[in-house]
Amino acid sequence: MHELALTRKMVQTAVETARGRRVVQVDLQVGELSGVSAEAVEFCFAACTQGTELDGAKLVITRIAGEGRCGACGKVFPVGPFNMVEGCCPGAFVQILRGEELVLSSLVLETP
Ligand SMILES: [Zn+2]
Repeated sequence: MHELALTRKMVQTAVETARGRRVVQVDLQVGELSGVSAEAVEFCFAACTQGTELDGAKLVITRIAGEGRCGACGKVFPVGPFNMVEGCCPGAFVQILRGEELVLSSLVLETP
């Protein structure tokens, strides 16, 4: 389960950014094509934040839908984890535009 390692890394980044201040909310963007389960991240978050500046912080996860552009006709279309080229030119290269991100988008810090 690689979500545990990812969550640990994210929590570490947040702790470094917070510089000793308490974190009340963490906003995370998870792309639907990233292979990361938002549920698993939520599950790991509570364990990973125990005893840190993030202890008790709210985790807000925004899912980013997948989007790709067909290399043959240039059409932009939704891409799901299991239908990479459905509905477009057969065998064409698809450039993924969105959906692979795993981004710590913002932190809400406690006001001193
Ligand atoms: Zn096409």
